[in-house]
Amino acid sequence: MNNIRPTQVRRRYSITMMLTLTSLLVLLLFIAMAVLVQNRLGSFQHLLQNITGSAIPAVVQSSRVYSQINQLLFLTEALSRAPSQAVRHNLYQDIQLNLQGLQSLTKEWQTGFYQNAQLVALIEEIDNLNQLMSERLELQSKVRLSQQQIYQLYEQVQAYTSKLALADEERHSLWLLEFAAVVTLSGKASDLNRMMQLRQLKQQVEQQMLRLRQARAALPANQVELAEKSDLQLRSLLLETEGLLPLREQQLAIGGRATGRGNFVRNLVLDYARLAENSAYDISGTVLGDAAQIQQQLQQDNRQILSGALLVILFLLVAIALIHRRVVRRLEQLNHNVLLQVQGKAAAYQIEGHDEIAAIARSFAYFASTVATQQQELQQLSYTDSLTGLANRRAFEQQFHQALVQAQRQQWPLTLLMIDVDCFKAYNDHYGHQAGDDTLVHIAQLLQQGINRGSDLVARYGGEEFIAILPDTNVAGASAIASQLLHLFRQAALPHQYNQAADFVSISIGICCVDDVRKADYDSMLRRADNALYQAKANGRNGFAFSDQ
Ligand code: GH3
Ligand code: MG
Ligand code: MG
Repeated sequence: MNNIRPTQVRRRYSITMMLTLTSLLVLLLFIAMAVLVQNRLGSFQHLLQNITGSAIPAVVQSSRVYSQINQLLFLTEALSRAPSQAVRHNLYQDIQLNLQGLQSLTKEWQTGFYQNAQLVALIEEIDNLNQLMSERLELQSKVRLSQQQIYQLYEQVQAYTSKLALADEERHSLWLLEFAAVVTLSGKASDLNRMMQLRQLKQQVEQQMLRLRQARAALPANQVELAEKSDLQLRSLLLETEGLLPLREQQLAIGGRATGRGNFVRNLVLDYARLAENSAYDISGTVLGDAAQIQQQLQQDNRQILSGALLVILFLLVAIALIHRRVVRRLEQLNHNVLLQVQGKAAAYQIEGHDEIAAIARSFAYFASTVATQQQELQQLSYTDSLTGLANRRAFEQQFHQALVQAQRQQWPLTLLMIDVDCFKAYNDHYGHQAGDDTLVHIAQLLQQGINRGSDLVARYGGEEFIAILPDTNVAGASAIASQLLHLFRQAALPHQYNQAADFVSISIGICCVDDVRKADYDSMLRRADNALYQAKANGRNGFAFSDQ
């Protein structure tokens, strides 16, 4: 037990190190998880910001642009079919507003250069179309006016004819018929929509004008002048620069240009609409792509966070199991060992290792062994007489009881010797107390020499009195031992001039010998031995006496 010593804790395997490392690892894992989650939330927020901050407004913007373009398409188509200047004017103003709206939307939208150039071209073409439409409508009203003037002229000529005398009227009617034929031809001009037809009509008109001139020759002289004047007027209204047919030709030419321009504008608008549609498609594609990316990233993040959490849980479980195995269980074993040793029992577990718990266990074992040794020493001290080294009275009493029980069991005789040094007061008085002590040590040695069987015990009872228990010893045996003791003292011949019984240190012995120990007890045997001693003293000392049975 005494070779157990507290040991140094080897740091490499220490529990402190293990706990510190475990805590650090758990902390690191948590930090890593927090950083991962924070990072993922950041990118998710960024993507959401992208969608709400730019993609969704762009989609809204693109749909506004798209509806504006649809309206523009409707308005330009209406412009190219405007029936009057007033309607054209109103439509043009609406178109201007629409274009302004489109311009500001595309500015906000920040579309490509091509799209903006397209819008600029569109604005220019719409201006041209408007200009053409204005000219076309102006020509239209001029054509109408010219037609009206022709009819008015015809009405005047007709009125004139109806006022003539019957004979003149007949000749005049022939001319009037030819005149009416020209007017009728002029009426066709508004219905013809092809330049070729218009040119044919012009030839027909020329021919008819020729016939009119021929008809005029048949007129009486007084009517010729007026007829000629009417002819000239009719020619001017029909064929000269501002006449019906040239105007109609111009109208057809401008109409064709206006239709062409209208179609061109329509195509431009459709083209622009397609561009807007493409942009909207691109944007919605981006939004959908972003959303898909978010979803994918979220799934990936979920997987990562889940596996991270599982890793942390797994690590914690391993750490808990390890701590339980390496720390908690061993501490419980140590505690159990401590409790057992406090109760005076042997330790139940062997605590191995090189860590703190093993060190504590070793220190405790060392402490327990030290306590045990001290306890043993203390016990020995408490059962030993300090002067002579013999057993003391307490040890004797314990031993006596054991011997009594054994004798009762074995049915042995039992002998008790009460030994007293003769005239020891006188010895002290003359040789001094210290010499008395030394002699007591000698006496003890002699007694031990005389009573030397393994089962025998001699003890110092107190002062200069000794006591001995001799198991399995009858009267004869007791007598032999007592004689032997007296002989030993005589032989030793320790000087004692003041002894009344001899000139050396002698003893007197009172013997109590019990054959049937069933009813024997310590007190009675002690009393009887004491009586026997008294008897031995009375007999003159340096001898022994038996107690009565
Ligand atoms: P007796 O023959 O009748 O026994 O006479 P005694 O003088 O021996 O008896 P008493 O009881 O009158 O004296 C005992 C003496 O033993 C007294 C004391 O001086 C001495 N004594 C007792 N214990 C010790 C001790 O431990 N050391 C020493 N030196 N003397 C002791
Ligand atoms: Mg005495
Ligand atoms: Mg004495």
